[in-house]
Amino acid sequence: MQQAVQAGVERPFRTGFVEIENLPEALRALDRISGNFYWSWHPEGVELFRELDPRLWSQYEQNPRLLLKNVSELRLTQKSLDDTYVTKLRLFAEKFDSYMSNAAEPPSIAYFCAEYGVHNSLPNYSGGLGILAGDHLKSASDLNLPLAAVGLLYRYGYFRQRISHDGWQEERYADVFESELALTPVLDSTGERLTVAVHIRGREVVAQAWLAKIGRISLYLLDTNVTQNAEIDRLITGHLYGGSTETRIVQEKVLGIGGVRFLRKLGVAPSVFHLNEGHSAFLTLELAREFLSVNPEASFDDAVDAVRRQCVFTTHTPVAAGNDAFSTDELRSCFDSEFIASLKLSEDALFDLGRIDTGNDAEPFGMTPFALRMSRSANGVSEKHGEVSRELWLRMFSENAEPNDVPITHVTNGVHAPTWIAPQFQSLFTEYVGPEWPELLRDLSSWSSAVEQISDKEIWRTHQQLKRLLIAFVRERTSAKDTGSRETINEHIDTHNLFSPDVLTIGFARRVAAYKRWNLLLSDLDRLLRLVDHAERPVQFVFAGKAHPQDRTAKQILQQLMSINHDSNWQRRAVFIEDYDQEIARYLVQGVDVWMNVPRRPLEASGTSGMKAAMNGVLNLSVLDGWWMEGHNGQNGYAIGGVSEEDDETADANDAESLYATLENQVIPEFYALDSSGIPAGWIRKMKNSIATLTPQFSSDRMVRDYVERIYRVDS
Ligand SMILES: *Cc1c(COP(=O)(O)O)cnc(C)c1O
Repeated sequence: MQQAVQAGVERPFRTGFVEIENLPEALRALDRISGNFYWSWHPEGVELFRELDPRLWSQYEQNPRLLLKNVSELRLTQKSLDDTYVTKLRLFAEKFDSYMSNAAEPPSIAYFCAEYGVHNSLPNYSGGLGILAGDHLKSASDLNLPLAAVGLLYRYGYFRQRISHDGWQEERYADVFESELALTPVLDSTGERLTVAVHIRGREVVAQAWLAKIGRISLYLLDTNVTQNAEIDRLITGHLYGGSTETRIVQEKVLGIGGVRFLRKLGVAPSVFHLNEGHSAFLTLELAREFLSVNPEASFDDAVDAVRRQCVFTTHTPVAAGNDAFSTDELRSCFDSEFIASLKLSEDALFDLGRIDTGNDAEPFGMTPFALRMSRSANGVSEKHGEVSRELWLRMFSENAEPNDVPITHVTNGVHAPTWIAPQFQSLFTEYVGPEWPELLRDLSSWSSAVEQISDKEIWRTHQQLKRLLIAFVRERTSAKDTGSRETINEHIDTHNLFSPDVLTIGFARRVAAYKRWNLLLSDLDRLLRLVDHAERPVQFVFAGKAHPQDRTAKQILQQLMSINHDSNWQRRAVFIEDYDQEIARYLVQGVDVWMNVPRRPLEASGTSGMKAAMNGVLNLSVLDGWWMEGHNGQNGYAIGGVSEEDDETADANDAESLYATLENQVIPEFYALDSSGIPAGWIRKMKNSIATLTPQFSSDRMVRDYVERIYRVDS
């Protein structure tokens, strides 16, 4: 990827940076390793930092740059004299250098997304879309794909969640200091900051860029927080999904239009632009403008042909209302007439590009219809979501078309196995499959038979270790909140006795939104509490998730869940962990017994957290929607409800009944059915089946290969 960057761009630029100058010679490699997120998906890389100072590692929320800046001289000197540590560091540095030394040729694929969830120490994501984009980049790196990524650097990121004593969600925003993150400024050939300008609200708004290295992949993040800009423009890249619709439009202009201009200045010439969700779709206008400026005789329609040949679009939203849509007035105030004229378009013709019904002045400008028009390929993120999307956008393609004629296909999402599989299971895979196990996921049958060879005892022992780790984590997180109030499950009196490693543990963590049906579990409280209180076969629950700051209904759902306080074991057996993020997700998907998901069908486009759980032998208990429709085989987890179409009320009632019945009649008895050696053999068979069948099918390596073979490739 080095060649992609103009001379001098990657020259170390230290001004305003965390100077890591205090490292003893024997530990110097830590500086280099901490500058690339490669370490984050290698257990031995994570261990190098944690071992340096476990307390600071947790205090600085797994940020290696901050750790290195603040670790004491005594600690550094001790580790530099620790031969075992120094050897581990040398071996990892060699592995990293060798990985980086054969990076692919200059990027021919440009990947655009509004958020990236690479690691907690780069707080630039809100949820599923961002994590997916992060996993996409990691797999692209592992597969050595010539891909570069573009996004925005949000100065205040996404909000941090706190729950008040009465169970109400409160938000705060942390200020991100670039110099504390593993980012380097992107410079031009003269050593100055490389900048681009985008005309916004009558002014030229300047954006600079930061480079994050995700293994071999370069992720460029644009940032309008520069002194030349007016105050309000400096805040364009302020909050992720915060602010008004106007803020969204101008953010998306910076991402799309600014992003293309940035790549041009950098000398990157992609043949494919991947619009991951519609936020970046304005980039197609910039490509059209470029085309027309070198083809002055051409029309806008000619430009569209040229643009479509380069663009591919992934939609992630199965409901029309969930897609970004802007009123024409809002658009008008953010787009200047000169830009529109340079496209040889009238304003109305521009607005029509984002409408299902062209000519309907009342219809807002939708980023999804717009992206569909401007891309040669469009896909949903699971088989079911592809089908739903074809129906949803049918009218755009023809009045009488059949859904099957709509040119929207699907590539089912996946997750990055080395990021999400617990180190303890990775060791087992290394032993039974070989150190190259991530690559061997490609060969389904040899993977499955290797997994079958792992003894039941070892699977169970590994799982129990991870469960104990989760329980310790739960106790630690809740003890920080130990206020003595008994009002909510977010505050516990005696956190040391919370949870038991012998009790069936169910995890439920996701965004709090109505369609995710957080309250389905609460629909028959007596029945739920009978499960929790059961003398021999109790159940415990761990919850986490954020509600959108403006979504009062979601916050009420959360408050309701927090405040169940009957004279029961609920207080001891239900826990809410605040501020759901990647680190919490890891403990949860690796340490619970069951991962529950109950979205209202067919609104879960794919879902990915269940895939992470499945790869750790955690059994999914989910409605048949999104990825689980493809993944469930009857032996690798549990299905709730059926697949028939029902009105919401009927579906909610039926699914609640099915959820309780499946717990009572299948999940609980099977979990507690111990054999003579004290382990649940039938359960472990399901765990193995989950690891064997779902890990290859839902790995992001498989997903990225699908994109390469079916979406990025141009048939000539
Ligand atoms: C994986 C993940 C998600 C997405 O999970 P869903 O199954 O789509 O809910 C969201 N947030 C975090 C922190 C994750 O790790």
